[in-house]
Amino acid sequence: MTTDLTRNHLFINGAWQTPGSTATIPVISPFTEEVIGTVPEATAEDLDAAVAAARTAYRSGWRDLSHAERAAHLRRFADELEARAEDRARTVTTENGMPIALARFAEGAAPVQLLRYYADLIEVTPAEEQRASTPMAGTTIVRREPVGVVAAIAPWNFPAVLSMFKIAPALAAGCTVVLKPSPETSLDSYVLADAAVAAGLPAGVLNIVNGGTDLGRRLVSRPHVDKVAFTGSTAAGREIGRVCGELIRPVTLELGGKSAALVLDDADLEQTVAGLATASLLNTGQTCYMSTRILVPAHRYDSYVDAVTAMSSSLPIGDPMDEDVAVGPLASERHRDRVLSLIARGRDEGGTVTTGGGRPDGVDRGFFVAPTVFTGVDNSAAIAREEVFGPVLTVLKYDGIDEAISLANDSSYGLGGTVWTTDPDRGVDVARRIETGSFGVNYYNLDWGSPFGGVKDSGVGRELGPEGLAAYQSLKSIFLPG
Ligand code: NAD
Repeated sequence: MTTDLTRNHLFINGAWQTPGSTATIPVISPFTEEVIGTVPEATAEDLDAAVAAARTAYRSGWRDLSHAERAAHLRRFADELEARAEDRARTVTTENGMPIALARFAEGAAPVQLLRYYADLIEVTPAEEQRASTPMAGTTIVRREPVGVVAAIAPWNFPAVLSMFKIAPALAAGCTVVLKPSPETSLDSYVLADAAVAAGLPAGVLNIVNGGTDLGRRLVSRPHVDKVAFTGSTAAGREIGRVCGELIRPVTLELGGKSAALVLDDADLEQTVAGLATASLLNTGQTCYMSTRILVPAHRYDSYVDAVTAMSSSLPIGDPMDEDVAVGPLASERHRDRVLSLIARGRDEGGTVTTGGGRPDGVDRGFFVAPTVFTGVDNSAAIAREEVFGPVLTVLKYDGIDEAISLANDSSYGLGGTVWTTDPDRGVDVARRIETGSFGVNYYNLDWGSPFGGVKDSGVGRELGPEGLAAYQSLKSIFLPG
């Protein structure tokens, strides 16, 4: 039996507000295909109220708190969120099909860790520093001021942690936030709001509005929004970037990817392919930095195709609430159909499917697509160039390291990537030559303390680390005579 997760209010100005209309957004379990709950759809007036609340909270105190005071708020928020981590993880699994073992870490624990990381960081980051000025013999005070009201727009694939990539540094910097989750995953942010209430986060510091593209568009362009932080598709990112350019509004864009796994000739086949299970297929491939183009030396092509095929077809697939499942359903019917159409296109352009290619055998419910491996295409094929955002890999061959690097860089994207080798120094040399924002040697894992983001069509700006805090700060120089 599915529990009804329906919520009837919007979290605006620190309280549960009655929405301006009776319109609701149904959230559908991709495993059962049933509605698991509804949330109110925010109206334009609800959104404006959220922005106004964020602006008032910003101007009437939050920005003026000491760094230690804001750190204390963030830690209380983290404690309350930690108490609800299992609830949040299970809610995410129910709404988007993420395997529960992954959701426990990525959607339960990680947002808590991020709040604590930024609490610690803001406490040791001075608001001002003094510099001896040149060429005049004066002094300059350089201040780091909060940017203001932040519009945070999140996707459905990792809704909790990707919202927190924005909320934690923004709040630490002294900004206030209006969060717009993706409609597919509107439910888990209520757990976040519950934690904010229990932690006594001041009214208006965090506000949450539910809606789709139109509400997102309105949020991006509202007066009194001082910065936009977006994670999602490159197409939406382009549009948001255009609007922010027109408004001269700072924007961070974390967009799509089509990263490469460079398997060097000295790599250990077994260890490499075991590593690819997470580096290329995490969250059923619905992860932006997946290494989905697997580049292998031509003389080892057949053995890698066999091993990648065997690995992909052996991953446990099924109920995402099952602790042992590695591959759940795709997050929505619309997304499943998009993935299937890209698979069809890969076949049309001459690709061979060695495993998968559609719904797994014996499964007649849920938006499942079996892990799929393509061979027999080169890097010009759409299946090797376009982001599929699902469990679909393409194995490509190369001759010599220079060709491998040139193939890896022959992409409109530049977000992640990996190299697989028994010589880590060689791996780092390869990493230095790849046009990307992040790269892993024999694994890929984000680091809360280091910047994450993309080059080329993968985005603009960085999240995480001190750089992710700086993205919510504006610099002011105050000149004093000597
Ligand atoms: P999407 O762009 O369709 O939607 C993302 C969010 O933006 C949703 O909340 C949506 O309602 C909103 N939105 C859509 N169009 C908008 C517009 N014009 N103006 C304002 N808001 C708008 O993306 P998605 O399908 O939810 O997510 C999948 C995409 O996200 C993939 O391309 C993936 O690579 C990317 N992604 C990137 C990262 C990263 O860090 N680089 C992380 C996760 C996902």
